[in-house]
This record gives sequence, C-alpha cells and structure tokens, in this order.
Amino acid sequence: MADASSPVTLVILGASGDLTQRLLLPGLGTLLKAEPDLNLTLIGASNLDWPQEKWAELVTSALPGGGCPDARVRQQLGATHYVQLDVTDATQMGEFLAGLSGQVVLYFALPPAVTMKACEALAHVDLPAGLRLAIEKPFGTDLASAQHFNALLAKLVHEDQIFRVDHFLGKATVLNLLGLRFANRILEPVWNSTNIERVELISDEVLALEGRAGYYDHAGAMKDMIQSHLLLVMAMFAMEEPARLDALELRDLMVHTLRSTHLWQDDPVASSRRARYTAGTLAGRQIPSYVDEPGVDPERQTETLAEVTVEIRNSRWSGVPFRLRSGKALGDGVRGMTVVFRPVEHQPEGFTNQAARDVLTIGMSPETLALTLATNAEGSRWDLEQTSLAAKLGDSPIRPYGQILDGIIHGDPMLAVRGDVAEECWRILTPVVEAWADGRVPLDEYRAGSSGPKAWSAPQGSDS
Ligand code: NDP
Repeated sequence: MADASSPVTLVILGASGDLTQRLLLPGLGTLLKAEPDLNLTLIGASNLDWPQEKWAELVTSALPGGGCPDARVRQQLGATHYVQLDVTDATQMGEFLAGLSGQVVLYFALPPAVTMKACEALAHVDLPAGLRLAIEKPFGTDLASAQHFNALLAKLVHEDQIFRVDHFLGKATVLNLLGLRFANRILEPVWNSTNIERVELISDEVLALEGRAGYYDHAGAMKDMIQSHLLLVMAMFAMEEPARLDALELRDLMVHTLRSTHLWQDDPVASSRRARYTAGTLAGRQIPSYVDEPGVDPERQTETLAEVTVEIRNSRWSGVPFRLRSGKALGDGVRGMTVVFRPVEHQPEGFTNQAARDVLTIGMSPETLALTLATNAEGSRWDLEQTSLAAKLGDSPIRPYGQILDGIIHGDPMLAVRGDVAEECWRILTPVVEAWADGRVPLDEYRAGSSGPKAWSAPQGSDS
C-alpha cells in the first residue's frame, strides 16, 4: 500500500468521455484538495487525436469543479499528459505500458464492451508488476457474463488489484451507515426483524434521459441502479457487525448478506414492477415521452422506473421486505433509506388514538437524518402525534468518486466491489431480468414529473 508520497501513475482510459469530465476529474479534485501531497502522474488516453492543450484544458476546467485549489491544479498540470491509444489493440497497449514505471493504475472509463475488449487485449501483454485495474459498472449484463468477465480479470491480476467501481459505496450517507449502526448504543439492538417492519431504499431522479439514450436504453433502471447501487447499499445497511473496518471484513460481510438475499416469496413477477415515463413537465421544462426521446428504440421496452422487493433470509432479517426502487423523471426525487419500525407490543389504554409507526429516514444527496417518533406533548393531553428529530449532515469534503479513487490510489480495495459480490447481485435479479424479457411483468406508465404510476401507491411485499 502506498503512502501519500509514493508515486502513482493513474491512466484514465476514456479521457474524452462523459464520466471522466463530469465525475472522475472533479472527484479527483476533491481528493487532491484533501491530500495535496499525493504524488500522482495523471495520463489521459482515448482514441481521439487530441493535442496536449485539449487535455490540459479539460483537466484545468474539471479538477476545480471538485474544489481543488488553483495552485494544486497547476501542480497537477505539470504531471499530466495525453496519449492517443486504441485500448483494444494489444500491441499499442503493450508499448504504452512498457513505457511506464512504478505503481500504475488503469482506470477503464470506457463503454463496457470496449472495457471487455481492452481486457482481452491485456491478456497478450506483459503487465507492470502490481498493476491495478479500476473497472466501471456494469460488471457484465447478467450472471453468466459477470462470471465470464471475472474469469478474464482473474487471468490478468490478483483480485485485490481489481477495483470494480460503484461510486455509491463512496457516498457519505452509505459510509455513514457504519458509524450510525455500529457506533451508537441505541440502534444496533433494534436493527432486526423483531423491531423493523419494512425497509425502503429509493434512488429516484428528477432528471429525465438528458441525452444518454445510447447507454440507458440498453440498460434501463433495474440494471443501471438496482442491480448494483441499491443492492450494495442494502448489503451495507443489513450486514453483520465487522470486526474492523477493512476490505476483508466489509466485503466478506457484504457477500454474506447478499448470499442470503432472495426475491420476495421467490416470485420474480409478484416482487417486481416496471414503468416508463410519458410526456410531462419537470421544473417548468416540457419533457417528451421516453419513447420519443432521441435514440430510444420503443420496441426495446426499456423501463425508466424499476422496483424490486427482496428478503434477506437470516435470523436477523427474515420476514422484512426490503423495497428497492429507482427511476427517472420523478417529481419528488426521493433518495434515501426509510426504516419503518413495528408498533409497540402494547399501547396503554387511555390514549385517544393509535400511535403511528416510528420511522428513521436516512437521506442521500442531500445527506440528512430524521427520526419520527410518537409523542403526546402537543395539543390535547392524550392525543398521539408525530415529532421529527431532523438533522442535515455536513458535506463530505471528498466526493464519492474521490473516495473511490483514494482507495484505488492507495491500494485499499475496501470500497471496491469484489467479484463474488458482483456475481451475487446478478444472481438475485436474474429471474426478474428473465420475467421482464418474457413480458410476464407489465410495463406501466407514469407522467414525467409525477411521483410514479398511480396504481403503485401501496408498497409491494407489505401487507400494511
Ligand atoms: P462515453 O461514451 O462518454 O465515453 C467513452 C470513452 O471511451 C470516450 O473517451 C471514448 O473515446 C473512449 N473509447 C471508446 N472506444 C475506445 C477505444 N477503442 N480506445 C480508446 N478509447 C476508446 O462513456 P461514459 O463516460 O458515459 O461511461 C464510461 C463508463 O463509465 C461506462 O462503463 C459507464 O457505464 C460508466 N459510468 C458512467 C457514468 C456517467 O455518468 N457517464 C456514471 C457511472 C458509470 P472517443 O470519444 O474517441 O469515442
């Protein structure tokens, strides 16, 4: 593992792409601000014939987006350059890697099919000792392809040198689950099916397609969001207590939780719902129907809203529905985890009404925390009402991609998705993928800007 001053060469393959510009470089900017002594050589690579100035311009404009001070940006500009490279060409890759020394990271910010071809090309190349590979999601398109991809990666480097990136694991709220759960006396004793009735993990976006049909129309909401992001967040939410915060513990405990996870009642049809948006208004903007967005093939039946209910079958969680939902063009833009507690076993006679459920809400982007409890402090003496204790958590100085890059640069895979974890996520959802492909689950509709299909108001998998 490198200390802050050990030199590392970070090569971004796909330097001209959306991810690099919008998330990766700004995330790196926050890391450089937090760790100004990071001894980093940054190389951008893509198959475009870019002059050096073009890459320098991109770095100059994108790094400060994450708060990197001008002086640190200028310092980094002295240690960055661009190379034109066809990453799928073994000869070009071999010659390029032979020219590098020290600790090298290859970050595949490439379309998934190109990443696969690039890794196949690397199988014919002498790789630098200790090479680290950072792989963007999706990790395959189903269980079989995820297994195939993992087998290919295993031929290149050791698993601890593979950093499958899911930036949700770098989100402050997700990391905060560890502190919230395991550093407080009051939560862990009630973090189980005896006390919790249901859990909802929701990541709804206000944004519609925003020109990303090329990627999204092939993926859809379930593969884009639930298959990776939300199942991983659920694993962090539900896992057993780690002995220490390290890669072995966290990743073992995550896979342990996921291996116990199954579709609600093992029924892919009853446990899942899908829908796509029709024309509507979002924040004053007119949004066309998804099927009318440029680049969308309506025959593909891609969903823009997906919901899957699962059960973690172990003594802590059996019988508790975990509802995972994500969609686009949704007016509310709800993002976070909602924990609904069971009612008290016995409420004394004399109150004029039944207490509502206690609810803990953990908001993601923005990071918030709220605990809603029953009280009878206000109004009529024995009327029970709800009181919310709410807090906005401070922003993390390092953005999620910065957190992820921190682990990669320092050789700590704690926040990287291990191969078996990626495979378990596909294993859980494969019956849903098949049921949707066979048309066994209807594709509902909702108006862009609404909160989803009207008929969806009752959560699946819950009798309440
Ligand atoms: P883009 O299509 O915007 O960028 C892809 C990049 O790959 C371009 O720089 C492209 O260069 C380069 N490229 C393609 N083929 C080759 C090749 N043969 N040799 C060298 N370079 C090549 O994709 P994104 O940036 O959107 O996505 C990249 C990855 O990140 C994907 O796996 C995606 O799933 C993941 N991701 C993206 C997010 C996002 O918001 N964009 C969010 C989370 C994950 P050229 O311009 O020359 O074609």
